[in-house]
Amino acid sequence: MRITSITNWAYGITVILTALSGGAFMMSSRSALQERAAVEEHLTLDTLAEELALGAEFGSDEARLYVMRGDERYLKEFQAQENSERNVEATATRLAGKGLAPGEAEALKAVVRDADALDKIEQTAVEAFQRGDKIAAQEGLFGAEYERVQKALLQTVAHFRDLTGARTGAQLEAARDRSNWWSLVAKVMLAATGALFLAVLYFVLRRRVVKPLMQMTGIVSRLAKQDYTVEMPVERRADEIGEMNDAIGIFRTNLIERERLDAERRADQRTKDMILQMMHRVQACQNQGELAEVVVRFIPEIFPDFAGGLYILNDSKTALIRAGAWLEPQRSLAAFPASACWGLRRGRSHESGANGADVPCRHLDASGATALCMPLTAQGDMIGLLYQEECGEKALGFAGARLYLELIAENVGLAIANLQLREKLIELAVRDPLTGLFNRRFLDETLQLHRQDRSGEQLACLMVDIDHFKRFNDEFGHDAGDLVMQYVGQTLRETVGTAGSAYRFGGEEFTVLLPGLDEQEASELADALRQKIGGATLSHSGRVLGAVSTSIGVATAPLNGSIETLVTRADAALLQAKAAGRNRTVVASQIKSSALL
Ligand code: GH3
Ligand code: MG
Ligand code: MG
Repeated sequence: MRITSITNWAYGITVILTALSGGAFMMSSRSALQERAAVEEHLTLDTLAEELALGAEFGSDEARLYVMRGDERYLKEFQAQENSERNVEATATRLAGKGLAPGEAEALKAVVRDADALDKIEQTAVEAFQRGDKIAAQEGLFGAEYERVQKALLQTVAHFRDLTGARTGAQLEAARDRSNWWSLVAKVMLAATGALFLAVLYFVLRRRVVKPLMQMTGIVSRLAKQDYTVEMPVERRADEIGEMNDAIGIFRTNLIERERLDAERRADQRTKDMILQMMHRVQACQNQGELAEVVVRFIPEIFPDFAGGLYILNDSKTALIRAGAWLEPQRSLAAFPASACWGLRRGRSHESGANGADVPCRHLDASGATALCMPLTAQGDMIGLLYQEECGEKALGFAGARLYLELIAENVGLAIANLQLREKLIELAVRDPLTGLFNRRFLDETLQLHRQDRSGEQLACLMVDIDHFKRFNDEFGHDAGDLVMQYVGQTLRETVGTAGSAYRFGGEEFTVLLPGLDEQEASELADALRQKIGGATLSHSGRVLGAVSTSIGVATAPLNGSIETLVTRADAALLQAKAAGRNRTVVASQIKSSALL
């Protein structure tokens, strides 16, 4: 109920109670008036009876004095008294006719009758005295009859007074009781009005206003401290406090919504910042390995609910090889044919969903969980794949992250394309196209690096020259010569393996650098190399080219000479091998001593 309704009702009831209380007071005062009237009636009747008795007595006295002394003055007094008595008797007779109870009227009539009888005796005695019969007069006024009538008058007066006294006393008592009762009713009504007023005041102020207001104050101050766990009052009230509660409820809902939007905005901003950081690092990567490392580190930070992997298309563009993975993806193979991915085939993002909305990629398992394949492209060329799958219990879907993932895929694709281009350029710059070995320029750069190395580690150098190479060109043509060159280059690469690196020095001459090997070890490797090269019989265009022999000069640094002279010394050893008849290995330290001889 609204507070205004409560106060209106209370006001109406208070007015009614006040009016009833006023009515009760009026009834009470009316009863008081009745009480007074009863008292006055009692006094009137009592006085009347008194006057009748006293008048009879005075008349008797005046008559007796007159008959005893004969003084006319007493006669006049007696007659005046008689007249007055007549008036009283007339009043008594009138009263006896109305307003008196039958018993009282009878008693009053008896009083008047006895007074008349007494008057008659007195009148007779006075007349007897005036006739001169003094004795008869005195006997009449002092005789036994007179005494009896006088006594009877006093008794009837007393009886009348008793009757009227009893009746008026009862009336007085009843009027007093009524007055007291109405007065009590009025007081009770007044007390009820006051109690109602105080109760309404307490209820409205304390229960309906103060308590809810204090509760609301607590809620608002907690909301101000961003404590949105605060509980709203469950009681639905249809009054002003209820409206305020509703308003605070809406205020709280708005705050929670704003906080949610702020949190979303902050998360969104954080995602953008992380993507920006990732892009800066991706741009600075030197090779695809570094790039994969950056992607593996950043993507799970940005999207912790998705596991995934970065796949790169192989050189022949037939297979995707996983270059890096995060949060342990379970569904996709580590390597699979490019044709197994719908994303790659369609050239756009493809979602293999749990809802079966689209055809699933063949590189996924049969679990049916949601997975997203985003092809990485650059300038229209397929480069790789950014793969994501849901991890954990939450099935969030990719809708919220898709835009950012596409942004990442676009940038990563471009970065991979740049790195691949750069790697190709580097390869072109350092490789000899015919043999696939490093070129002379790269040899110079590598030697420069070794020159700067102060660790003192041994470095062995082989100078390899194909014997009578010109013969292959001359006898079998230039292509056959190239074939021999390629064969020697491949054998060099395979034999040296990870022990060092092989370079095409120029023409049909090759250089091998072997870090950590001393003269003996390098010489042994050179012999093994020569044997391997010479062990095969080459043929070109159906013609047998014959065995290929090589001469090798070996030198080491820094034990047997400086790094600056390493190649020169190896070359000198090679010349020595040539001079000594070819198809052999000569160690530089040996030619030094022979030169001295
Ligand atoms: P030697 O045993 O003294 O080393 O004799 P050789 O014939 O191997 O040496 P020579 O310097 O006389 O001949 C080297 C030839 O290699 C000369 C050149 O035409 C040839 N040649 C250099 N580069 C290439 C190449 O790239 N392809 C082919 N087919 N021949 C090349
Ligand atoms: Mg040669
Ligand atoms: Mg040569």
